[in-house]
Amino acid sequence: MSNQKREEQFSKVFSRYGNRIVTQDDNYLNQFRATCQETLAKYTDLDIYFDIIDNSRVNAVATKYEGSYFIAISKGTIKIFEYYARKFSANPNILSDFGPSNQENNVIKLQNSIIIKDEIYIIEEDPPVSPITKERRTLAELIFSQSILNIIFHELGHIVNGHIDFLESSKIHYLEEVQTESNKLTSILSLHRQTLEIDADAFSAIETLREMLAIFDSKEDKFKEILPNYRSVFKLWSFVRQMCWRIMENNYIGKGLLEITHPPTSLRSQYTRIANLDLVKGRGGSSLLDDFETSYTLGVSQADNAFRIISEMDTIPPVLSKELSNYHFHHGALIFCHWDFIREDLLPLASYSLRDPNIRDDQYNEILKGYKQVISRLNLQT
Ligand SMILES: [Zn+2]
Repeated sequence: MSNQKREEQFSKVFSRYGNRIVTQDDNYLNQFRATCQETLAKYTDLDIYFDIIDNSRVNAVATKYEGSYFIAISKGTIKIFEYYARKFSANPNILSDFGPSNQENNVIKLQNSIIIKDEIYIIEEDPPVSPITKERRTLAELIFSQSILNIIFHELGHIVNGHIDFLESSKIHYLEEVQTESNKLTSILSLHRQTLEIDADAFSAIETLREMLAIFDSKEDKFKEILPNYRSVFKLWSFVRQMCWRIMENNYIGKGLLEITHPPTSLRSQYTRIANLDLVKGRGGSSLLDDFETSYTLGVSQADNAFRIISEMDTIPPVLSKELSNYHFHHGALIFCHWDFIREDLLPLASYSLRDPNIRDDQYNEILKGYKQVISRLNLQT
């Protein structure tokens, strides 16, 4: 199909969410778009058209129209990730074991770290932030490219794991990542959505870590100091994912766990770690797995801390998921059972099976019983 036709379709599909951005004069965005299109083409033979939209209510979306798939990312999301990548890398107290951090000197705090994604996408920068050393600039580049990959692979996960087709055949309004405008999300729909989100996260967890390991394996000079060993790879990888979710999570402050489309950060983090256990073990056995677990925890806590370090006020991370509480564990078990319940309806293409090694076989029936009770209660309400 001609590119022009695809562009027209794209604008039609996303017209409610901000049109395609025409960026003839914007080299940065043009380059960005081309890189993303190449990345997607490398990963799948599916007919997927990627482009950039201009909308403050949406981070990224995946959908299907007239038999073709579409992925969109918003300009605001790109700018915000790019900003935080620079801001964190320029601060000597953030990720301080990556490169010569003590030569960095940007410790200016944001007065208010609530993330602004309005039409002009401005985060106050005074002066514009940039790391001083070349190693830390490489770090900023890596943080940025990984955070974008995170989003794109998550959207791709929705497509290749069959979610878009599943939602379409279930007659569920399926424009991904968009909280329904009326905010009247039924609990069942919320559970459906969160289950698919976890599944898409798992896909993106595996593929982003593979990308990071490929950079590590390349032994390219540029990355040697930033990624000298496996621990640094795992830590930076988990740092970036946590950073992304914290930024996204702002939309859900103050809502209940069954009123939202995306699971709280604590659960996304938990299942992401689980998703990669096989990959890491396959590469280096249980000793590498130990490195992974330790580095993972460090990366997550350093990302949460990074937001505190750059803010006057503790507005990030938000209140929704401070700790992985029992309440969140219970919710995680619900998602796990729900995935089991709908898996038959997902395409056999699905490249990943959600599983939770924290749930022992002898616990499973008990958990399933609880799940069925919750579901019948929810069904009564809808
Ligand atoms: Zn999603």
